[in-house]
Amino acid sequence: MELRCEGCAGCCVDWRPLAPEAAGSDRTGRRPPLDDAYDLVPLTRDEIAGFLDDGLGDVLVPRLFEPAEGDDAVRIDGVAVAAAGDRPVFAVGLRKPPKPVAPIGTDEHRWLDACVFLDPTTLQCRIHGDERYPRTCSTYPAHNLELDAETECERVAAAGGGDRLLDDAVPDDTPPLPFGPRAAGATVFAYPDPDDLDGVVDRLRGERLTPDDRARFVGAAVGSSPGSLSVDRDRMAEARDRAREADSWAGRAIRTWSERAAGDGDPVALDPDDRERLVRELEDDAGAPGTPGWE
Ligand code: SF4
Ligand code: SF4
Repeated sequence: MELRCEGCAGCCVDWRPLAPEAAGSDRTGRRPPLDDAYDLVPLTRDEIAGFLDDGLGDVLVPRLFEPAEGDDAVRIDGVAVAAAGDRPVFAVGLRKPPKPVAPIGTDEHRWLDACVFLDPTTLQCRIHGDERYPRTCSTYPAHNLELDAETECERVAAAGGGDRLLDDAVPDDTPPLPFGPRAAGATVFAYPDPDDLDGVVDRLRGERLTPDDRARFVGAAVGSSPGSLSVDRDRMAEARDRAREADSWAGRAIRTWSERAAGDGDPVALDPDDRERLVRELEDDAGAPGTPGWE
C-alpha cells in the first residue's frame, strides 16, 4: 500500500459538504449507524481503555446501529436498535467536532467535522505513530482493499483531490475486520442495562449526547472482554466514573470548536493568521501533541 496523504485528510474529515456526490458513506452496511458521523474510527477495547488511562475519556463517542434482518432488536425512544438478546450492541469511536480545514486538495478553509486529533493547520494526525494511534487508522485502507470496497483515497481522487492511492497491495499483517467474526468484546460491545438508555437514542441522533451518555458506553466497553459480550460490573463502573470526570485539552477543544463553528461546510471567516492562532490557542498551547508538517 502506498498513499499520498499530504493535503488530503479525506479519511479524518467529513467532506460530504464539499463533494456530496463523491464522498461515500459508512451507512452502506447491513446495520446502518444511528448517528450521522462520517468515517467514525471504531476503537478496540484496549484502545478505549488506553485513552481513558491518558485522561482522554472525553474524546470518545458511542455508535448504535439499526438492526439487520434477522437481528435481535430493542426499542429505545421508539427506534429499533440492533441488540444481542435485549442488550443494545455498540461500538466506540473518536469524536469529530467542526474545525476550520481545507482538506482533499482544496484551498479554502471551511468548517467541517474533523477528528478531534486532526491538526487543522497541517492536516496531520496528532497521534500518528504513537501508542494511542488507532489500529483502524494505521491500517487504512487495507480492509477496504481486502473487501474490494471503494476507499476514501479513491473517492478523494474522483472528487478532483489528486491521486492518493499509489499502490493498492494489501499488507500481509492486516488485522481482523473490526465488525467481523472476532469483533465481540473487541470492537463491538453490548450495553447491559438497556432500561437506562431512555432519551439516549434521541440525543445521539440529535448530536446532543451528554458527557454522562458517552461515559456510560465507555464504561461498558472497558468492562467488556474480548471474545464475549458480557461485562464486568466493577470495571464498568470504575471506567464510567473516569470517563465522566475526564477534562482533557481535547474535550475542551471540542467544546470551543463547536461553539465557534459556523454551519457545516461554511467558509471560515478568519484571516489565515487568526485561524492559525486560534488552532494554536485551542489545541497546541492547550496540550495537543504537535505535528511536523510535510517535508
Ligand atoms: S486518529 Fe488521526 S488518522 Fe485517525 S481519524 Fe483521527 S486524525 Fe485521522
Ligand atoms: S483518504 Fe487516503 S490518501 Fe487521504 S489521508 Fe486518508 S489514507 Fe491518506
